Amino acid sequence: MGRLYIESLSGHKIFKCKFCKVDSASHEDIVSKDFQGRFGRAYLFRHAVNISLGPTEERSLISGLHTVNDIYCSSCQQILGWRYEKAYEPSQKYKEGMYILEKERMLKEGW
Ligand SMILES: [Zn+2]
Repeated sequence: MGRLYIESLSGHKIFKCKFCKVDSASHEDIVSKDFQGRFGRAYLFRHAVNISLGPTEERSLISGLHTVNDIYCSSCQQILGWRYEKAYEPSQKYKEGMYILEKERMLKEGW
């Protein structure tokens, strides 16, 4: 394991890990708020920080088969959501490289 590096996001509206309160993603990077996660509603982000990726796996989701990695908070190792590595449906391709963060696992701080 390398040394832990915590990146801070600038901006007023930041989502943080609910468990250890490091920054996870910026409100400005939300692509959609209309996703379903393991724990309820989830948001799709263009970018996320302070995360580590789990193993690559094929997963059948509501929107079809995808190659995904679960994402974990790099500070406290709690699972936060997943990242789309590859989508097979042309209509879902836009999600490749984007991040799902579970609303239930995030804190909104200061707003
Ligand atoms: Zn955390």
